[in-house]
Amino acid sequence: MRVGLGRDLHRLVKGRRFLLGGVEIPAKRGEAGHSDGDVLAHAVCDAILGAASLGDIGGLFPPSDLEWKDADSMDLLRCAFAMVKKAGWKLSNLDCVVCCEEPKVLPFRDDIRRSLADALEVSVDRVFVKGKTGEGLGPVGKGRAVEALVVCLLEGQNEKD
Ligand code: MG
Repeated sequence: MRVGLGRDLHRLVKGRRFLLGGVEIPAKRGEAGHSDGDVLAHAVCDAILGAASLGDIGGLFPPSDLEWKDADSMDLLRCAFAMVKKAGWKLSNLDCVVCCEEPKVLPFRDDIRRSLADALEVSVDRVFVKGKTGEGLGPVGKGRAVEALVVCLLEGQNEKD
């Protein structure tokens, strides 16, 4: 078994969509980024890639590469997971924290869990998502950024539950 950690932060700006794990949430500001800016999808990519020692999202899908401009981050996640699977791993579970002042994550939690679980080919009970605020402090607390933290556990495809 392998544990992995992912973390990402994106600035929040007007005129962009607010996406978490492939789910669009109505909000006044959305995530800036070279891709679609989905901060949670990026942190999940880094967690699973790190657990499998396969690199990180910045190295595999560099922002300098025009191919990834406005990319659907869930496509990046599916691509990263395909590499993880090819290396002999499957996901045991994923636990995520999303930190932002607004919008509220809770009403969309189950949609996000389902979206991530589908991409990672597990049942929804193996994926959890929590929302936290920044208590008015720092870039997250001032509403200028959204941050995602993710831990995952991978297990060898032949290991029993
Ligand atoms: Mg990112």
